[in-house]
Amino acid sequence: MIPKCNLHAHTTFCDGKNTAEEMVQGAIRQGCEVLGFSGHSPLPFDASWCMTEEKNELYRAEILRLREKYRGKIDILCGIEYDSFSVCSRQGYDYIIGSVHHVEREGIYIPVDGDRRLIEAEVARLFGGDYLAYAREYYEQMYTLKEKTDCDIVGHFDLLTKYNEDGSMFDEASASYRDAALSALEAVLKQDLLIEINTGAISRGYRKTPYPAPFILKYIAEKKGRVILNSDSHAANTVLYFYSEAVEYAKSCGIKELYVYQNGAFVPFAI
Ligand SMILES: [Zn+2]
Ligand SMILES: [Zn+2]
Repeated sequence: MIPKCNLHAHTTFCDGKNTAEEMVQGAIRQGCEVLGFSGHSPLPFDASWCMTEEKNELYRAEILRLREKYRGKIDILCGIEYDSFSVCSRQGYDYIIGSVHHVEREGIYIPVDGDRRLIEAEVARLFGGDYLAYAREYYEQMYTLKEKTDCDIVGHFDLLTKYNEDGSMFDEASASYRDAALSALEAVLKQDLLIEINTGAISRGYRKTPYPAPFILKYIAEKKGRVILNSDSHAANTVLYFYSEAVEYAKSCGIKELYVYQNGAFVPFAI
C-alpha cells in the first residue's frame, strides 16, 4: 500500500488558514503518514500571500520543532514552494517545489491564479486579449524552472487554467495551446522532475478536477514521467482532500506509480 503522503501544505506563515501545528494534528487525524510543508517563498514585489524573510526563518524553526515533537506519529518535512521570480537557495529545506504563479509583461506581474477579473483585464490590456500568447509566456517559464529554483517537484503545472474548467477563457483543446503546454512538459520531463497532481483548487471550491489536465497527465504516463500527489492544502481539514479520487484520476490517465518521500528520497509505489 502506498503511504499517505502530502508535500504541499501552507500555514499562517503565508496564506494558510491554520498554524503549522494545527496542520500536523489535522494530518494525523486524516491518516497522513508523511507531511511536508511548502511555505510560499518571499518575492521581490508585493505579494501578501508569501512569507517575508523574517517569517521564513520562524517557519523553518517551527517545522523543525514539530518534526521532533511528533516524531513516531508522523514524518514531518520542511520544504518550500519557490516562485519562479523568487531568489532561491536549497539550504535548510528537505525538498523544493518550483511553481510559476505569474506572467510578467512591462513590469506588471499578473497572478495567474489571482482574481479572475484582474487576470481578464490584464490579458486584455497587456496581451490584446490573446490568451494563447499569455499561456505561451506562462509555459516559457517552465523551461528554466529547475535552473532558477533547483526544484525537485513542479507545482500545479497548468495553474493558468484555474478558472477555465468550462473553457470560457480559452480553448484547452486547441493545437496551439496543447503544443505550448506539451513542449514545456517535454523540457520538464527531460530534467526528470517530479510533476504534481494538485487538488488544491478543488478543496478551495474553484475547480472539480485536479491539475494537470488529462491530456497532460496522459502524456506524462506515456513518457514514464514521475508523478507525486499533493493537496496544496491551506487548511487543517484538507491535508488529504480528494486523495483517493486523485489516485483514481491518475490511474485513469495511465499512471502506474506515485512517488512518496521516505527516508530522504523519493520512492515510487504502485497504484
Ligand atoms: Zn502555488
Ligand atoms: Zn501552494
